[in-house]
Amino acid sequence: MLTDRLRAEFVTLLGTDRVYTDPVTLALYASDETPKSCIPEAVLFPASHDHVVGIIAIAGREKLPITPRGAGSGNVGGALPTPGSLVLSFECMNHILEFDPDNRLMVVEPGVVTGDIDALAATAGLMYAPDPGSGAYSRIGGNLAMNAAGPRTVKYGASRDHVLGLRAVTGDGREIRTGSRTTKYATGYDLTRLLVGSEGTLALITEATLKLIPAPRRIASLRVCYSDDRSACEAVIRVMRQPIVPYALEFMDRRAIEAVREYGAADGLPDGTGAILMVEVEGDSEDIPRHLAALEAALRGTGLLAVQSGFSKAEIAHLWTARKSLSHAVKKIAPLKINEDVVVPVGKLADLVAAIDDLGRRHGLPMVAFGHAGNGNLHVNLMVHPDDAEEMNRARACRLELIETVLKLSGSLSGEHGIGSEKRAFVALEFDAATLGLMRDLKTLFDPYGILNPGKKLPD
Ligand SMILES: Cc1cc2nc3c(=O)[nH]c(=O)nc-3n(C[C@H](O)[C@H](O)[C@H](O)COP(=O)(O)OP(=O)(O)OC[C@H]3O[C@@H](n4cnc5c(N)ncnc54)[C@H](O)[C@@H]3O)c2cc1C
Repeated sequence: MLTDRLRAEFVTLLGTDRVYTDPVTLALYASDETPKSCIPEAVLFPASHDHVVGIIAIAGREKLPITPRGAGSGNVGGALPTPGSLVLSFECMNHILEFDPDNRLMVVEPGVVTGDIDALAATAGLMYAPDPGSGAYSRIGGNLAMNAAGPRTVKYGASRDHVLGLRAVTGDGREIRTGSRTTKYATGYDLTRLLVGSEGTLALITEATLKLIPAPRRIASLRVCYSDDRSACEAVIRVMRQPIVPYALEFMDRRAIEAVREYGAADGLPDGTGAILMVEVEGDSEDIPRHLAALEAALRGTGLLAVQSGFSKAEIAHLWTARKSLSHAVKKIAPLKINEDVVVPVGKLADLVAAIDDLGRRHGLPMVAFGHAGNGNLHVNLMVHPDDAEEMNRARACRLELIETVLKLSGSLSGEHGIGSEKRAFVALEFDAATLGLMRDLKTLFDPYGILNPGKKLPD
């Protein structure tokens, strides 16, 4: 509980313009992208690492829970406040501290918008590879806390693979530095990889040293249409088995295509298209034709209807229209989407898609699947009417069956969105007791008072 005395202490530490307890601000910071909300006790806007250290000192002493927050674009309740918590928003820690093209690195505060990092890197012919769809507004601290990923992950890996080092503050106020400024590193335990993806439950990230890589010279896109899901999934296996790794390899299932057709965004799709792969390659002018030829050979097979190519920005944008309009298109099916973000080995993708089709039919629910096929990561959307209690019960049963199926296929609960508050009940299905126990011990070690984002990541 935030007493007047504690509020005054935070004001002394941060200044009046960085401590908010008015109802409007509290309401603005009460939710993330999940359809839930919880009014916090206060919203704090630190401007520096030292501010964060000071906040943790007070919160630790008073046992006040803290909900760290970037842009609040997460869809699993990671930045959703818990009762009695203080939201710690990193929006004002938004400075790029250093850009070092010679060493291909950038040092940033956690509140920098991810797209701004990539834009600055591009001025020197470099890029920050992780490219979540929310990159235009999500913040790098939130991306790192969730190990965010995107279409380029199939070639370059997720956020975790592009961080050289971190500065952070643990739940008991220890100020730590992890990693180094080098691309090779074999000293000590790898706390960087542990903190990336820890969802603000172990330490608050106050600075990150990011790895940059050369930006692609040219990109070409293919939209590849198949008659059915299985044919497309088998093509994914063939693509991932040959040596040219695509720059993107995305999948849309039959129901997703129906949704974009109903939405009016299926321009140029051949009749009878039941599944789509979006494939990209990058390279120099001489590389592109060779890479495209290799991928087209792998994409050819049963059920192929058409291969459509794009080389200019306008052609590429046109090919991606159907995929990019999906988020809006699915909203026409039902008002609420329960978004699962499951991942399976690429070789099991066809089994997963068949299981999703079967689950949708048996539970009488529209289910739309699309996503990052090259990583075996699908966004499975169960479209529901939240006011229909009977339908919501069916959705709950369907969701559990989906997760059990994914685990049987040697997959995992989340490929990129993380666990937050919304999926933690299922985590015990994935890990054995010993592994989960060690994770709980780590949480206690980093955060002995349990003040950092309680109620997230691990089950009770
Ligand atoms: C339209 C849309 C598209 C999306 N596309 C993708 C996608 O392609 N790929 C993908 O991976 N995700 C995607 N997401 C999900 C979301 O954008 C990502 O999870 C993103 O990384 C969250 O960043 P954020 O700044 O909004 O963080 P928030 O949602 O505010 O927070 C996310 C988590 O990070 C913690 N946190 C924030 N800052 C810190 C810090 N400095 N230190 C410690 N913990 C911290 C929070 O407590 C929370 O647990 C999408 C979301 C939307 C709405």
